[in-house]
Amino acid sequence: MQTLDTDIVIVGGGVAGLFAALCAKRARPELGVTIATKHALRADAAPGDAVGQVAGDEAVKRRFMAAIEAGRWRNDQELVWRLANAAAVRLLEWREAGGAPGCLAQLVAGGVRPLEHHRALDLIPAADGGGVAAVLMLDTGSGKAVLVRAHAVLLATGCAVASCDGMAMALRAGLPLRDMDLVQFDGDAASSFNGGVAIASDGSTAMQGLYAAGDVAGGVHGAKRVAGNGLAGALVFGAAAGESMAAAANPSGGFADPDPAALAEAERRAFAPLGRRRADLASVRARLAETMSGDLGPRRDAEGLKRARHALNNLAASIAAMGVPDPQLQDNSDWQDRLDLENLVLVSHAIGVAAQADDWDAAKLHTTLVRAEDERLVAATEPVAFTRVRPGESLLPQAAE
Ligand SMILES: Cc1cc2nc3c(=O)[nH]c(=O)nc-3n(C[C@H](O)[C@H](O)[C@H](O)COP(=O)(O)OP(=O)(O)OC[C@H]3O[C@@H](n4cnc5c(N)ncnc54)[C@H](O)[C@@H]3O)c2cc1C
Repeated sequence: MQTLDTDIVIVGGGVAGLFAALCAKRARPELGVTIATKHALRADAAPGDAVGQVAGDEAVKRRFMAAIEAGRWRNDQELVWRLANAAAVRLLEWREAGGAPGCLAQLVAGGVRPLEHHRALDLIPAADGGGVAAVLMLDTGSGKAVLVRAHAVLLATGCAVASCDGMAMALRAGLPLRDMDLVQFDGDAASSFNGGVAIASDGSTAMQGLYAAGDVAGGVHGAKRVAGNGLAGALVFGAAAGESMAAAANPSGGFADPDPAALAEAERRAFAPLGRRRADLASVRARLAETMSGDLGPRRDAEGLKRARHALNNLAASIAAMGVPDPQLQDNSDWQDRLDLENLVLVSHAIGVAAQADDWDAAKLHTTLVRAEDERLVAATEPVAFTRVRPGESLLPQAAE
């Protein structure tokens, strides 16, 4: 297997990934930064408007309260506070950098290594238990595995409806996903998952050396995302993670040895479907969509959630058994679909488990945490920490009830 070494590896070339790379490079130009994306880098960054057009204390408080109230008080208030404070300056920096095209040009000029058409498969922990050591990737063109060792890893994989790879990778690495029950719907279809990898306001996670930013991270938006906060969150937490990773990276420290058992298991999981009997991926997708828009849709009840959990258990078993008859490694799109779907089923399963743990009532002021234990997903709830303002109060005095 090919091994690449880099100080920082950023997985995902959307707004969060690009801006994190730029901020890391600006903080410490001497660091080696690699940015890997599943597709072509140039096509990745999303257009759109972000909040943060207005600076000043009053605007910060308004942004904060708007996010908390739209999020029905389920947000992590410290994340929202950071977003509200940093949005204006990060948006300005992003614009001054020339947005995605300008950012990309600066990264290339600054020596950032692009790994296009490289799909991250799994996070590989250090053999000594000291955090993340590497990311196992698949060069989807050649079909060969590539191990990228790094001092710091950023998950910036977004959560496209097709797969949610980063969330699935985090679950498999033993990390908790928070608030997965909070799904936003547009008509009968899910439009965004507002939960994700639990982070602190510098983008760090529970795994040493691992950071997450953008749509893959949870806690910022609560039950409902304010328009413009998607991009603002990707910029603010992408920048925070980029700067934190740069500060923490210790190039003279050497690379941790990846845990050989975890590496072997990740490789086995990715390559196992090749050459096995045909999978009816379309039927799995259809059954999944039915469950997500039905029993796990906007109207949930206890009976429906039991049915959804059962259906998702069955789908997980089905997908694990499904193969891709064509054993070709190069440009095998069926294989990529199969890997996407496995991740999507796992993340959907986490949504089902979180919804059931929250007693199906999204209005309850709990944080839900789902993690993988002994090959099962288990959930816990804890009260939301109202660190800055309590329900019924406001930072805008005239608006308090
Ligand atoms: C049509 C549309 C319009 C929008 N308009 C607005 C708007 O006006 N305002 C607003 O605030 N928000 C808007 N949003 C939401 C906003 O775009 C997102 O919140 C934001 O782009 C998230 O950025 P991100 O970097 O986290 O993820 P993304 O931009 O989704 O980037 C994810 C990256 O990860 C890569 N990736 C995924 N899996 C892997 C893997 N396994 N290995 C390697 N790479 C991987 C992808 O290729 C991609 O490069 C819009 C979204 C859409 C879809």
